[in-house]
Amino acid sequence: MEQIPLVDLGAAHAEVADEIRAGFDRVLAATAFVGGEEVAAFEREYAAFGGVSHCVGVANGTDAVELALRAAGVTVGDEVVLPANTFIATAGAVARIGAVPVLVDCLPESFLIDPDAALAAVGPATRAVVPVHLYGQLAPAAELAAALPDGVRVVEDAAQSQGASRNGRTPGVGGIAATSFYPGKNLGAYGDAGAVLTDDPDLAARVRLLANHGSAAKYRHDIAGFNSRLDGLQAVVLRAKLARLGGWNQARRDAAARYRELLGELAAAGRVVLPEVAEGNEHVWHLYVVRVPGADRDAVVGKLNAAGIGAAIHYPTPVHLTAAFAHLGLGRGSFPEAERAAEEILSLPLHPQLTADQQQRVVDALAGALG
Ligand SMILES: *Cc1c(COP(=O)(O)O)cnc(C)c1O
Repeated sequence: MEQIPLVDLGAAHAEVADEIRAGFDRVLAATAFVGGEEVAAFEREYAAFGGVSHCVGVANGTDAVELALRAAGVTVGDEVVLPANTFIATAGAVARIGAVPVLVDCLPESFLIDPDAALAAVGPATRAVVPVHLYGQLAPAAELAAALPDGVRVVEDAAQSQGASRNGRTPGVGGIAATSFYPGKNLGAYGDAGAVLTDDPDLAARVRLLANHGSAAKYRHDIAGFNSRLDGLQAVVLRAKLARLGGWNQARRDAAARYRELLGELAAAGRVVLPEVAEGNEHVWHLYVVRVPGADRDAVVGKLNAAGIGAAIHYPTPVHLTAAFAHLGLGRGSFPEAERAAEEILSLPLHPQLTADQQQRVVDALAGALG
């Protein structure tokens, strides 16, 4: 039985393998393992791709969120507003600063942060709001920034939205955004990597300082910092894949459109609720997430997996119901939409190399699993 994985990193690698080997040889010859020319070139290229003037490569996406928050002035005891339905790292980065995550619910159609709930959660101790661009489309970051009181910053979690835009605006424009190059992201390294994006030279310099032992010049340490830098070998991988990212994102959009067609009957029958693209958004489909209301979702995922289909759940437990954040004291019922989503959603395989035949098999298997 042919397996249809959720993401196919091997198929993506096959497209860039020769270029990456040649790039690795360059890095090995130069012994430029941390920082160096490949990293500088990638930072320039990604900033251009992302439509911002500064990209600072860091060690992973979680560090990127933390360093962006710190650069924006978030410190111990500050409150940071973020959605309850995100990958745990968004909340983890806030907690690592010693700041307090203030969770809010999501919108049922897009799964994106509810902007009214976010604004209502802002109080005197709030220092930042983190819209998470979940599944590949952008939350209304610019609109939030315009509505927030002075002194409260928007720090975008753009880990899942490489290449996405909203009303023509990309993450980091007019503010600061963090992204992740974890292997399974739309732009994935061969290990951990991440970046902070901004137009503001002072914020970019602050992130660079924090990420490099608080040091702008060798052995001069202005502040106590961290070690969170991008590797030369990872930069080679990222440069080769970045050159293909526009095409790969288009292939994801095509596959999403094909799913919409193939799933039309199940959707019309109310068995499946298809993902919606919010007004103004250019979606990059990091994940294709459907709801199966009224079905035993875990059983459906189990049947798909048994049929060789890498369906998964992003994410099964909202932040407030994890053991790690139980101390926030937010029980079941605190965020009804995030909780309902966690019970009803499943992610179908979606990646640039997915074929129409494979999608047909996924949809047939889903129809069978729904009974
Ligand atoms: C992947 C991800 C992160 C963390 O990135 P890492 O590189 O795994 O540390 C943060 N936020 C979101 C929404 C993510 O999907």
